[in-house]
Amino acid sequence: MVSETVKVVKFGGSSLADANQFKKVADIVKAEKCRRYVVPSAPGKRFPGDDKITDLLYGCYEAAKRGENIDPLFSTISNRYFGIVKELGIECDLTGEFDYIRSALLHHAGRDYVASRGEYLNAKILSAYLGFEFIDAGEVIFFTEKGELDGEKTNEVMAKRLIQSRYAVIPGFYGSMPNGTVKTFSRGGSDITGSIVARAVCADLYENWTDVSGFLMADPRIVENPKIIDTITYRELRELSYMGATVLHEDAIFPVRFAGIPINIKNTNSPEDVGTMIVPTSDKNDSIITGIAGKKGFSVITLEKDMMNSELGFGRRVLEVLENENISFEHLPSGIDTMSVIVNTALLEGKRERILNELCSETLPDTISIDDNLALIAVVGRGMISAKGTAAKVINAIAKSDINIKMIDQGSCELNIIIAVSDGDFEKALCAIYSEFIDD
Ligand code: ASP
Repeated sequence: MVSETVKVVKFGGSSLADANQFKKVADIVKAEKCRRYVVPSAPGKRFPGDDKITDLLYGCYEAAKRGENIDPLFSTISNRYFGIVKELGIECDLTGEFDYIRSALLHHAGRDYVASRGEYLNAKILSAYLGFEFIDAGEVIFFTEKGELDGEKTNEVMAKRLIQSRYAVIPGFYGSMPNGTVKTFSRGGSDITGSIVARAVCADLYENWTDVSGFLMADPRIVENPKIIDTITYRELRELSYMGATVLHEDAIFPVRFAGIPINIKNTNSPEDVGTMIVPTSDKNDSIITGIAGKKGFSVITLEKDMMNSELGFGRRVLEVLENENISFEHLPSGIDTMSVIVNTALLEGKRERILNELCSETLPDTISIDDNLALIAVVGRGMISAKGTAAKVINAIAKSDINIKMIDQGSCELNIIIAVSDGDFEKALCAIYSEFIDD
């Protein structure tokens, strides 16, 4: 027996911002019978400067908390939903839902509950419009007491529930705590819901529909007109997302990666574009590098000590001091008698003096310093393994632009090269590396 293809489709806020967008979404879903499980976000911006429903809901929650009149903001929210229902011309009476939410707000409902209603209501409309069953995410997504996703329980309960439903809409962004209260993921978390659903139904593909035709090779605010990546592996994506590249929520990779399900980033406004495929592994690599991303705001703690290389436990003592201060490190470039630890500057706040003192007493270094204003750039690509001279090319690009490299680090997996430059050189360095590898 040939097993049937199943696709999970997640639509972002801009894909469902108004009735016209809902129509595009319905056309996409109905175009393929295998698009059986739909995960919507809350309505996003309809035009630049517009408000996202989630932001308005947070605003409403804050107003209620301060004891202010919530009605003006609340009607802005309800009117957007009523407008969508009216324009779609469907039977979907949300009055009772809004009365309930308003009263919950006035009775001090939790922040996450209030925010989650954006997705909940959008899913109600979409299920009515598509004629698909509505399944509340609170019944199938579970968090632990610590507020972390309970992946196994979720997968078990959701798989059992979804097998009973041929076509369903499951709101994104939230689930429930052990005591039954609503908890949301962090912002953009509907991507995670889509991934969880894809794993639970053993989907063949997780389509993530947004307003761009794929994942760009570099940040378009820095590099002019960067190319779209056609295929990227989970590991490469993880490296790029960690370094600040957005499109997909960082945590959305894990559930599908676990199950080896590919993700396809697609554009709701241009559905014929192929988009970006995110896959477990790929032999296809048109260029040596897949993408470049980076972040500012790092600091380097440098310790020097003669004969450091032969002193047992030196590194452990340094890292222990940081661990006791709750500071994780990003990179650890070292020489024979020097050790540098690169950390996020924000984590040092209020702890600098103490850390320096503790490091001095624990390791007795000859010199020690903390330097700020460092930017990290990750040049990522599975093509590096088989290409010679990639590091030389990166260094060459930076040198030609008259930029000083503060650190360079190539992981032994040969998937990425990380370089550190001054914050002030960040944009220039990124553009230089991009044009060194990608010709127009
Ligand atoms: N609506 C939520 C947000 O704006 C979640 C999502 O869109 O994924 O962050």
